[in-house]
Parts: sequence; C-alpha cells; structure tokens
Amino acid sequence: MTGCMQGIVATGATARVVNTWAHPGCTGIEYQGETSPPQPAAAPGSGPCAVVACAAQGVYHFNGQWACSVDCLEQLLRAVVIAEQALAAAAALHAAPRVKLGRILIEQGIINEAQLEQALRSQRSVGAGKLGCWLKQQVELPEADFTAALSIQWQRPVFRMGAFQAARMVSYLPAALMEKHGALPLRITGAPERLSICFEDHIDLELLSAAERMHGLSVDAGLLTATEFWQVTRELLGQRPPACVSVEAASVPGMTAAMSQLLCDPAVITSRLVAVHGCYWLRVWKQGSTAHQTFGGSLEHDSMRHHGMHEGVLVPCDFLCNPQ
Ligand SMILES: [Zn+2]
Repeated sequence: MTGCMQGIVATGATARVVNTWAHPGCTGIEYQGETSPPQPAAAPGSGPCAVVACAAQGVYHFNGQWACSVDCLEQLLRAVVIAEQALAAAAALHAAPRVKLGRILIEQGIINEAQLEQALRSQRSVGAGKLGCWLKQQVELPEADFTAALSIQWQRPVFRMGAFQAARMVSYLPAALMEKHGALPLRITGAPERLSICFEDHIDLELLSAAERMHGLSVDAGLLTATEFWQVTRELLGQRPPACVSVEAASVPGMTAAMSQLLCDPAVITSRLVAVHGCYWLRVWKQGSTAHQTFGGSLEHDSMRHHGMHEGVLVPCDFLCNPQ
C-alpha cells in the first residue's frame, strides 16, 4: 500500500508521508474512475508565471495558474493557502441558524414532550451522544420521519439514493474526508453539471464549499435516510478510489515546501488545493499510461496534441495534510 506514491513526496524534517489509502498493488496509475481536472491543462510554457514581478514562462500548473520554478510554485502555494483559509472560514460563517431538532420532532407530532425530556436527561447524564441517537434508542422513531425532521432543521431536501453510480462517484471525495465529515458524493446531474453531496444527520457547509472549488461545479446538499446512507457508503467502499496519501507537516510552511516538491514531478499535469476544516486537500492529475480511460475530451485540445503532451490519460491522486 505505501509503495503507491513512493518517490513523489519529499521526505524530510518538515513533512513526510504517514499513511496511504489505496487498493493493494496500486501503482498510482490504475485508477478506474472518472473525474475532470479543474480545467484543461495546457502545455508548459503556454502561460507566464503568475508570481508578481516574475515574467518567466510557466512550467508547473497549479490552481489554474502557472509557476516557472519551485520557488515561484511555493509562493503560489502560500498565497492559495491564505485564500483557502479565508474561503473556508467564510463558508463556516454561513451555517444556517437551526431550530432544535427536538422542537421540530414535537411540532411534527413524531415525539411528545415527555419523550424529548427523557432523551435529553439520558444525554445529559451520560454526557455524550447525539439527541437523535438517544431518541432512536428510547422511542419508536420511523426513519423517514426522522430524516424529514432533519431536512426541516437544516433546510435541505431529502435525497433518494436512486440508481447510484458508485464507480463514477468514488473519485469526488477522498475516503478520509467522506468518513471524517459524514459526507458522500451521490450523483452528477444536469447541464451544466451539478454535484450532489449527501449527509446522514447534518449539513457541512465548509465541506460543500471545498468540493465546489475542487471540482469547479455547483454543489447541492441534502440528507439521506440512515439505511440509504449506509447503502451508498457500502457501494463506495467496493470501488477503486484515486490513490490518497496523508502528508504530515509540522507547519504550514513545511506543508507548502513538501507540496511544491510534489508538484514538480514531471508526471503532474495540473493540480488544485482546497482547505476544509483545517485539512488541506491537494489533488494532482498525473499523466497515466493506460489507454482505457478518458476525461471527456477536456484535455484533447490542440495545444496539448501539438506539444505531444497528452499521450495517455490523466489520473487523479489525492494528498491530505493537517499542519499543526
Ligand atoms: Zn516565476
């Protein structure tokens, strides 16, 4: 497993690879799913370095900009980190004011005052557990009613699982983020495409905002019943996700130094970095060598062909870092 991305991350005093999530025997280019890079990547040298006062030709493509050197790349990374911190904080601020779940359940006639009191007492005496969990233990609570109440609380729709395309959706969020934030990519719909992300008992606006920036798509959020949420989880777990590597960094500068080394890999065609709850999610699209995947033709434009850049396919790999 750990051999998946060996030789790509610079190991040193400031940052190192601590863990990977990848299927056994993964070479890093076997990914079978589908996702589009944030935008068509053009051949190196097709744009100037984005660092102010640097007029050199771009070599490395990151967050829609070109950098000419490792130093300039690190400057861009630091600027993106600052911008991402602000965007994540802004998304967190917009969390909708919520009516208490117990009140909604009473108003909907699903539970009565005595049942709510009993659940609250249990929650207080144990000092743990969500109210919903206590209620489910103590009251016969129809699952659909409970999810409908959550939908009122969070002012988001209840989604249906429908014909779930796990192989397609598994690439939209790293498994570690799905697990940590209780969020699952459910479907892509419409033109222009929109991404639907579902939750079981809450809505995480910061995660939605990060997914929007990573994929360049509008994101819809909704709730799934516990049963359907579990079914979607199980189907996603049965898929091959993009390789995912955890990078440990002592500080944000340590992280940007490690990431700039990572992005200098000649196989990296383009990349994007977003922040979510203090975690930095870097996705790189590397040139793969297998011919059985394509990404909607977005990389087939003339400059790529002209420069002979795009012989194979682009394969996403994720890096997650929680700097101290
Ligand atoms: Zn430069």
